[in-house]
Amino acid sequence: MTTPSRNSPPETSPPETSPPRNSRRRFLATALSTTLGAGLGAATLTACASSDDSVPAVGPANSLPPTSVQPPGGPGPEAEPPVANGNEALQRLVEGNRRFTENHLHHVDEGTERRIAVSKSQHPFATVLGCVDSRVPIELVFDRGLGDLVVVRSAGGVLDQSVTGSLEFGVAELHTPLLMVLGHQRCGAVDATMKALDSKHTDAEGQIGYLVEALAPAVRQVTGKPGDRLANAVHANVDLVLAQLRKSPVLGPLEKTGKVKLVGAYYELDTGKVIIS
Ligand SMILES: [Zn+2]
Repeated sequence: MTTPSRNSPPETSPPETSPPRNSRRRFLATALSTTLGAGLGAATLTACASSDDSVPAVGPANSLPPTSVQPPGGPGPEAEPPVANGNEALQRLVEGNRRFTENHLHHVDEGTERRIAVSKSQHPFATVLGCVDSRVPIELVFDRGLGDLVVVRSAGGVLDQSVTGSLEFGVAELHTPLLMVLGHQRCGAVDATMKALDSKHTDAEGQIGYLVEALAPAVRQVTGKPGDRLANAVHANVDLVLAQLRKSPVLGPLEKTGKVKLVGAYYELDTGKVIIS
């Protein structure tokens, strides 16, 4: 999340025609300020929530401060237009993953110029739930950079209140028109759950047992089915997570009204490819 900044401009009152979702963002910021007072917590969350709709689309060409802060080496790459909907956001991810797998990385939206451009506001175009696996860093596999993606990661993509709330935050408050749930090949968390269930040792120490409990339905669902059991369980878990997210009172209605597109996907460690479900 964004580091709180004392230089962040105060939010201005929206015009009467402001869309409901912007009002909702302001409501969140106001509610948090009221609840938490003027302390650091409220300031931090307000800063995180800011997508500053009054600022034009993110991009070096239209959101850079004066030229004196431009890095040496001349102007940066052309600004990308904002995505119009979930399909365009998904296409942007697919294209980035193709660059990744073909080793033609553009390192989109990285570097000093981009950092400065998004320092006061953000307009990410997709929210992605992935696994904590060290081999599946979300921005890297999609060749994206600063300010592009809201990334939430948990082992096996397990949902809990914080994970679900963070995904809702990305969609409802930061207005990403796409929410992707990304499973992956040879997921250790799902594999560990399979082994725990097979050995009937599901009482893992700490909170790992929570993960096993959350992933168990997907493993049980594919037991006895043909094909690779682990891959089947990962796919089943992606579907179950999507089904749970659709029950969210925040995400469900937004999907029904076309404000957000929910998709499942599977990352192949062997090829680097993300396969959309
Ligand atoms: Zn994993």
